[in-house]
Amino acid sequence: MERAISEFSKLPGIGRKSAQRVVFYLLKSSKFEVQQLAEALISLKENVKFCTTCYNITEVDPCHICTNEKRDRSTICIVEEANDVLALERTSQYKGLYHVLGGALSPLEGIGPDDLRIKELMRRLSDSVSEMIIATNPNAEGEATAVYLEKLIKPMSIKISRIARGIPVGGDLEYADEITLARAIEGRVAL
Ligand code: ZN
Repeated sequence: MERAISEFSKLPGIGRKSAQRVVFYLLKSSKFEVQQLAEALISLKENVKFCTTCYNITEVDPCHICTNEKRDRSTICIVEEANDVLALERTSQYKGLYHVLGGALSPLEGIGPDDLRIKELMRRLSDSVSEMIIATNPNAEGEATAVYLEKLIKPMSIKISRIARGIPVGGDLEYADEITLARAIEGRVAL
């Protein structure tokens, strides 16, 4: 039981207390249910891979987004992780392609440009790509990554934009931190 708790506490967002709750839940579940979970996890590792074009997670390579004829091939949206693709896809607003970097620049953690899929991104920049949207996270690492990419791409004749950031819907101006507020002012839209 200790081993199971310690394995679950390694998962993101799961502390020791949550891990204990999960383990107790599994102890009460039937053997069949636990087996289903274990099989789903193993099959996840065996069948899900990275798309060799955009590095999104996929069961087929290239992924469904890269092979979809209806997607706009002239635009690439750059994100940090595959779950950012899921989040953007849920909005149904974006019709272009993606490129998943696999993280963000972080000198503190020793993550440099070579640790991200930046070389792979540069290889995709053919004549057919006319716009790049940088959608890294609005934190120090995401900002550093965006600045680095801007410098790299700017000399090419490709339009670069960044997703607008600002006050979340339902948010309150008075509780927004200064970076968020500064970004909101910067990304203001004409009425
Ligand atoms: Zn892909």
